[in-house]
Amino acid sequence: DRIIAAGATREDDAIEASIRPRRLDEYLGQVPVRDQMSIYIQAAKGRGEAMDHVLIFGPPGLGKTTLSHVIANELGVSLRVTSGPVIEKAGDLAALLTNLQPHDVLFIDEIHRLSPAVEEVLYPAMEDFQIDIMIGDGPAARSIKLDLPPFTLIGATTRAGLLTAPLRDRFGIVQRLEFYTPEELTRIVRRSARILGIDCVAEGAAEIANRARGTPRIANRLLRRVRDYAQVRADGQIDHDVARAAMKMLNVDPEGFDELDRRMLRTIIDNFDGGPVGVESLSAALSEERGTLEDVVEPYLIQQGFLVRTARGRMATSKAYRHLGLQPKREPGI
Ligand code: ADP
Repeated sequence: DRIIAAGATREDDAIEASIRPRRLDEYLGQVPVRDQMSIYIQAAKGRGEAMDHVLIFGPPGLGKTTLSHVIANELGVSLRVTSGPVIEKAGDLAALLTNLQPHDVLFIDEIHRLSPAVEEVLYPAMEDFQIDIMIGDGPAARSIKLDLPPFTLIGATTRAGLLTAPLRDRFGIVQRLEFYTPEELTRIVRRSARILGIDCVAEGAAEIANRARGTPRIANRLLRRVRDYAQVRADGQIDHDVARAAMKMLNVDPEGFDELDRRMLRTIIDNFDGGPVGVESLSAALSEERGTLEDVVEPYLIQQGFLVRTARGRMATSKAYRHLGLQPKREPGI
């Protein structure tokens, strides 16, 4: 597995419980999102209503699940967590919805992966807090309407473009999470270190933050691996030098790129003359799934200016050439 994989692992889940922020003021960074959500939460509580439905999008590991926990906590209601692929039949969704208490939050991760039949059930549930379910089959089948308690749906997805328009339109609040700045990640690393009892000085935390690809989940995971290194190869304290040496061992470079990031840039440059190249061709050349490239690898490379996405495909920028120690290609017409 990639040390900087953005998806959650078993180890992440185990430690998660202790370091996941529970309140809005522990949710670091994402200032515009936090400010807005604080108003919506207070307003809903003030009116004694369920908060409007929220769609959160952003690459894996940026805090979509965490934000839903925080929202439910701040609202003082329970949170039910599920995901698009898990809800196979309309009946599965109906069971979840009818078991909610008034004003509860239902979190559906990967909401773009709901089947069309399940999506159909969700529309009236979101709009009128009602569902139509079919009872029995054959000539005796009939549809009954069930009233639901008013609830808040929070849907999460990696890219807004993956959602159908009717589903997207039913969310009153849409939040987009951005990659975190190194300063924000430094605060996150220091907070996690404090909770986990890890001795990590400011420069050590900053070094980890700089290489975490703007992603809290990666920052927390790097922190744990650097801790191991500090314990065995140093006196247990994470300072700048220890963090750097550990990153070298982990093969995470100063930009936070790992083998796959570098391989993607190299392949575009070596095999496709710097691009443009379509994502399908890249996926074949790298033997990596298209979804992994689109959701996990390229968003950060694009945000950092190493890659551009054009109508004709991906292109490596001069920054990418220089990062790999290559002479940038001359731009056409220059
Ligand atoms: P996603 O659902 O977007 O994949 P998660 O919500 O599971 O991401 O977050 C991944 C990890 O990052 C969690 O361990 C959480 O503790 C941490 N995290 C996420 N967002 C924040 C934040 N704003 N402040 C502090 N820690 C965060």
